[in-house]
Amino acid sequence: MIVAMFGSASHGVNTVLFDTARRRVSVGQWTRRADRVDVAPHGDATALVALARDRKLLLSGRAGEPSVFVELWAGEPDRSDGLSVLVQQDTIAGIVRIPLCACGERGCGNSGVQLAANVEGVHLEQLVDLLEALPVLPGPPVRDRAWGGEFDEDGPVV
Ligand SMILES: [Zn+2]
Repeated sequence: MIVAMFGSASHGVNTVLFDTARRRVSVGQWTRRADRVDVAPHGDATALVALARDRKLLLSGRAGEPSVFVELWAGEPDRSDGLSVLVQQDTIAGIVRIPLCACGERGCGNSGVQLAANVEGVHLEQLVDLLEALPVLPGPPVRDRAWGGEFDEDGPVV
């Protein structure tokens, strides 16, 4: 009897693929067009995926690995505001823009507030669908109510 090990990283079904020629990110059957896809000769890969007019997801990883690091931005990474995903009453409620810190360092205001998380490839489709559907909420972001990008088999965990 042959048992297909779906969900196993070693099987390769859920690894994240970065396709520079077709400018796509794929995991299994799921595939998504990106604004740009870059793969360095040593294998580090990034893709910038436009989710809606006011939000972009930056994916960083290594081609063929089972997880990627994602960051949510209002536009071009580092040059636009970071975005935070706000949890209200144990529900993922919406997206809040993180203003530039008074010190001028983008990373300072984003730290611990921006959605910046390691996500397994198997959850990427759910993450993209979730982030695309969320409304924009008035700020400011709240540090201890920022969703950290956690998933389990049932979906996002708050
Ligand atoms: Zn600062």
